[in-house]
Amino acid sequence: MYDQANRDIHCLRLSLTESCNLRCCYCRPQEPAALPPQELTDAELLHLVQLFAACGIDTLRLTGGEPLLRAGVPQLTARLKAVPGIRKVTLTTNGTLLSAQLPALKEAGLDGINLSLNSLSYTRNKRISRLTPPQHAAVKQAFEDAMFCGIPLKLNYMALRGYNEQDYRWLVRRYVRFFPVRLRFLELMPVGCARELQELGIPNSEILQQLRQDYPRLYSLPPAQSAAFGDGPAVYYTNPGWAGSVGFISPVHGKEPFCTRCNRVRLSASGFLRPCLASEEGVELGEMLRGGASDVQLLEAIRAAVRSKPLQHPFHPWDCLDIPVTRDMYRIGG
Ligand code: SAM
Repeated sequence: MYDQANRDIHCLRLSLTESCNLRCCYCRPQEPAALPPQELTDAELLHLVQLFAACGIDTLRLTGGEPLLRAGVPQLTARLKAVPGIRKVTLTTNGTLLSAQLPALKEAGLDGINLSLNSLSYTRNKRISRLTPPQHAAVKQAFEDAMFCGIPLKLNYMALRGYNEQDYRWLVRRYVRFFPVRLRFLELMPVGCARELQELGIPNSEILQQLRQDYPRLYSLPPAQSAAFGDGPAVYYTNPGWAGSVGFISPVHGKEPFCTRCNRVRLSASGFLRPCLASEEGVELGEMLRGGASDVQLLEAIRAAVRSKPLQHPFHPWDCLDIPVTRDMYRIGG
């Protein structure tokens, strides 16, 4: 499916739930969350995914909220994998509930795991994600289990000034050098509650500079090899002798045009199709489905929404946003 800028849109982020058991300071405000919307049922989700696949979507990423709070994710994964045209299903998770479900997820054919891991230190992780000691222990266990389960693993790391800005150096020294793990640095985007945290955001260029000091032979992987790691916007580097790699996702401070390579759209837990993370424009597919819309009408709505995908997000520069993105990331589906 091609949009107005001729970008090939073939990835769909599926939010399985807006509920989350953590409150990461940049994702979910401390005050009680809004009442979650009525979630799509598995049958509704599968129906919509069949239509998306008919339009050319071949890659799904299950996210949320915390997707593993939804019951039956391994079974849903297997059913999504069986939809004709769907090539790849991956999962983004905070890891608190992952270990117990890993064997079933593997059995279901899950193609990749993105584990959000901002620090291995409980004190620092707690400041960021407000988790409890058992939750932190579960995340560490999930990290180890995921590393050895045979499903390709990426770590999502959000470096925040004064919180965990040096912790990635330990992850590189201890893990990236020896295991085939991809440590990816996310730049903080001014979305929802994160708009108050501008001073905490660290440009990825600073992290790369530090890594180059630690590892002077660090080199960037050719785009084709980066693309083989997952066709998202990350730019990957490695070092001679490393088993793993580091990846940079730089929507805010990156010099390269970020949105020209965007290939995704998002479906919220209630079925709202959002062509751009930073826009409230979209179409209520869930409501249409429940209102009795035909497949032809749904397909037309999907195609129209994708065609109108905005050319660029409004995050440059941070403090001059034309249209502030007020919705928190846990509701958009990160
Ligand atoms: N609960 C799951 C998790 O923690 O991975 C999935 C949902 S979470 C919204 C997905 C990803 O979005 C996380 O890796 C998180 O770090 C990232 N994220 C959340 N808020 C963000 C923001 N303001 N800017 C950039 N990334 C953000």
